Amino acid sequence: LFITFEGPEGAGKTTVLQHIAQRMQHDDVLFTREPGGIDIAEKIREVILNKEHTAMHERTEALLYAAARAQHFFEKVKPALERGQHVLCDRFIDSSLAYQGYARGIGMDAVKGINEFAIGEYMPDVTIFFDIQPEDGLARIAAAAERETNRLDVEGLAFHHKVYEGYERVVKENPQRVRVVNANQPLEQVVADVWDILSEVLDV
Ligand code: C5P
Ligand code: MG
Repeated sequence: LFITFEGPEGAGKTTVLQHIAQRMQHDDVLFTREPGGIDIAEKIREVILNKEHTAMHERTEALLYAAARAQHFFEKVKPALERGQHVLCDRFIDSSLAYQGYARGIGMDAVKGINEFAIGEYMPDVTIFFDIQPEDGLARIAAAAERETNRLDVEGLAFHHKVYEGYERVVKENPQRVRVVNANQPLEQVVADVWDILSEVLDV
């Protein structure tokens, strides 16, 4: 199965995935992330998130995310799925819908179109949405000094509220695919909730 992890800034996706990876006994599980996951896409990530690139147009941004996604998907995700592995990916298309489509205002349909060009009809089988209000997520980031800063850091609370609204739409429009986890709980509890969903869908 192809399982993606989504949510706003500071939701804890990356940290929770690290804990899940440590607990996972299954050999057939591949952990990866977006934008990035392989050399070409990690380089595109550096271009997108570079703090000096303040002039980047939102359409350029949307296309670069889609370009990184295409390379990562065809080079790493699809071959793994074809080998029979499960793929667990930190962010995927729903990030583009929420951030570029909704929050940056390009339109969710336009972003769907770009992504259809990039990867065709492929969609995750299951998506786990880390539900946390932007205020709470951003407070966690402020408290975690070791986190890398990026171009998104200049965005204010209003932008992050839009991202959250974008995600709310994604959740509402995809009740079969998207499972919601309360991310505003202690780390161990979030890990436990995610683990429950994974054990159910992957039978580990
Ligand atoms: O998931 P991670 O925190 O590594 O993402 C890096 C940055 O890229 C975050 O600030 C995230 O909000 C941003 N991003 C974005 N649009 C996407 C995916 C990620 O603005 N489609
Ligand atoms: Mg992260």
